[in-house]
Amino acid sequence: MNGSALVLGGSIAGLLAAAALSPHVETVTLVEREDLLDPNRRGVPQGTQVHALLGAGQRAMAALLPGIVDDLVTAGGRLVDSPHEVAIYGAQGWAGRVPSEAHVVFMRRPVLETVVRRRVLALPNVRVVTGVVSGLTGGSDRITGATLQGGETLTADLVVDATGRNSKATDWLADFGFPAPATKELRSYVGYATATVRLPDGVFPPGVVGILSHPHPGALRGSAVVPCDNGLYQVAALGMMKADPPKDREGFQAHLEAAPSRLVAEVAAKAEFVEEPTVYKVRGSLRRMWEELPAHPPGFLAIGDAVMSFNPLYGQGMSVAASEARILHDILRENDARAGVADHGLAARAQAAFTPVVDTVFGMVVSTDAHYPGAELEGVTAPDPEAVRFGRALSQLATEDPEVALALKTAGHFFDTAPLRSPGIAEKVAAWLADGRTPAAQDPTVIPPALIETTR
Ligand SMILES: Cc1cc2nc3c(=O)[nH]c(=O)nc-3n(C[C@H](O)[C@H](O)[C@H](O)COP(=O)(O)OP(=O)(O)OC[C@H]3O[C@@H](n4cnc5c(N)ncnc54)[C@H](O)[C@@H]3O)c2cc1C
Repeated sequence: MNGSALVLGGSIAGLLAAAALSPHVETVTLVEREDLLDPNRRGVPQGTQVHALLGAGQRAMAALLPGIVDDLVTAGGRLVDSPHEVAIYGAQGWAGRVPSEAHVVFMRRPVLETVVRRRVLALPNVRVVTGVVSGLTGGSDRITGATLQGGETLTADLVVDATGRNSKATDWLADFGFPAPATKELRSYVGYATATVRLPDGVFPPGVVGILSHPHPGALRGSAVVPCDNGLYQVAALGMMKADPPKDREGFQAHLEAAPSRLVAEVAAKAEFVEEPTVYKVRGSLRRMWEELPAHPPGFLAIGDAVMSFNPLYGQGMSVAASEARILHDILRENDARAGVADHGLAARAQAAFTPVVDTVFGMVVSTDAHYPGAELEGVTAPDPEAVRFGRALSQLATEDPEVALALKTAGHFFDTAPLRSPGIAEKVAAWLADGRTPAAQDPTVIPPALIETTR
């Protein structure tokens, strides 16, 4: 263990990067513009919106912070077998519900972040500095630290940018002659409104704990009601292509009513609102191609939303950040035998190692969002028609075939598309397409029984 690291931004990606670095360096300094030690910290602006932590994120977090999932549950988080217990009505009808290992932690984002922060800040070599980063230090050969508004300079062998979607690192690096990374953007103009509620007993059919009526290219308004922590629920109105939900209660309810299934609206009408809806808008998905720079800035690494911020509807951002942090941890372990974090090529290797997970998830997002009428694609290739046909057939099959339903969910939750390419599934898709089949007609207001029931 030698050297020092500086992590810019103390939200999920920054905290998990600090956890990954901690065993491999003498000191990790986490710089955050908001006071991380303030127990009433409001957290990131999107923190009032509904958030879910997927299986991929839980596994990666637990590798860095053993026992963290238990900690989340102890803090009130609800662990749900989402493919079985959450009823999802999408473009092809109700997705088949099947028992799975793709459990999801549902909890309010600030509560989740508090648990992660408590664990990371308890690491003996992690210290926090409150301040606004205004630039980097170093030269054309290496980044060596960061400057804060007010003039303070912090130095380190490795600087990790975790300042999120609006990261200014591109401008900061330009001061030392490093070119900006190319960007890819898919603008599908996503709007959220979320309210925390209490629900009376009996609003869901047995075995169901949440309902998601997904927006899709044929229906721009969507809705969700899912559990969160400590017995509470969150109701969300979702909009694509600027069909933004309003925050006034009447408009919020009207938006829920306009979703493909009005079941969420029916549940919301019975809810006791603990907090009024708050809104948030995001342009879509933005990818910075850091790993493609002809000469990666030594000593500088980007992570989390600073690399790729996704359309949040698919609930992947925190889990991708956690996966990247785990990859960083693995690279650091291999690297300890070399020069530690001072190794000139470390940042470039880590940045490149993030690519497979980021590209897999970006591909999943593009496969849906590129089809919204008027979606704007910049540097993004639209999916090829064969892949589109295959994907549509998979979603259709998933309404009735438990194996396909499980494979589709597993791929989405663990960022692994291999199960979808198994010979058995390829055969089923080929037969479905050859027969020109379409899903059986379903009533959007009636949740069908699970394809496989459990005794839970
Ligand atoms: C509406 C919405 C819903 C979402 N739902 C989900 C979900 O269900 N599941 C999921 O996994 N993800 C979800 N996400 C994505 C998730 O919020 C992010 O992917 C996640 O927070 C990781 O982001 P990050 O840490 O990279 O950046 P952020 O969370 O944006 O954090 C950046 C941090 O850097 C700090 N910072 C910025 N600039 C400076 C500076 N100059 N100096 C010092 N500090 C600075 C900020 O204060 C902040 O703390 C959602 C996002 C949105 C917008």
